[in-house]
Order: sequence, then C-alpha cells, then structure tokens
Amino acid sequence: MKVESFELDHTKVKAPYIRKASLYKGEKGDVVSKFDLRFMQPNKGEMQTGGIHTLEHLLAVYLRDEGIGEEIIDLSPMGCRTGFYFTIWGDKTEEEIKKPLVNALKLVVETKEIPAANEIQCGNYRDHSLEAAIEYARGFVNNI
Ligand SMILES: [Zn+2]
Repeated sequence: MKVESFELDHTKVKAPYIRKASLYKGEKGDVVSKFDLRFMQPNKGEMQTGGIHTLEHLLAVYLRDEGIGEEIIDLSPMGCRTGFYFTIWGDKTEEEIKKPLVNALKLVVETKEIPAANEIQCGNYRDHSLEAAIEYARGFVNNI
C-alpha cells in the first residue's frame, strides 16, 4: 500500500502552498478531494503545538463561513506540524480552495478570542496560542 505523503519529496516543495494530494472515488460515484495546505517549509520550521491547535479551531469556524461549509469533510493538523490536510467533497482545484482559505486566514489575523477553548469543547484547552496562530496565518497569506 502506498502512503501518498511518503511519496512526496519534501525537499522539492516551497511553502506556503496548496497542493491537491489525492482524489478519491467511491464505489457509488462519490468524489472526495484531499489537499495539503502547507504553512511551514518542511524540515526548516514547524508550528508550535498551541499555535497549530488554535489555527485548527479558527479555521474550523471560518472555513465553514466561506460558502464551502456544506462540502467540508475534515481539516486536520499534520503530525509534523508543518501544515494541515483538508478534505472536501467533490473534484476541487487548488484555485477553488485558495480563495476561501485565504479569506479564512485573513479573519484569523483579526481574531480576538479562540472559539471552543474550554474543557468541555476541546481535548487540550490549555494548549492554545492565538498570537502564534495569527503569525502563521499572516505568513501564509503574505507569501502564497
Ligand atoms: Zn481543541
């Protein structure tokens, strides 16, 4: 079995970027796109856990407000902490993802409060950093 991200040469990419990693086709004709949203240059930098966690909370809210809410399946931080995987219904292009993502990240930069950062709604509510999330969002928007 092939693992898509292990096939990617991480020395050849230039972050930040949006890359369509996979297109999945179900038996009944359903189609799902998976994107690699890379914020940090692999093996040169990484997001600290509080910052990537806060960014995950904020993007979960803001991406759903960008007109693609019904189509989003998942947004998950990568274990290497250099970006996120973003999974969405349909055969989408990188260009189609760019606008809602950049708009959502611009909202992150303006954020004053972290949603759902409490013991009931989050699995590690003490590990958040709005300051770092804003820095990562700004870096992506300014350099994409
Ligand atoms: Zn959380």
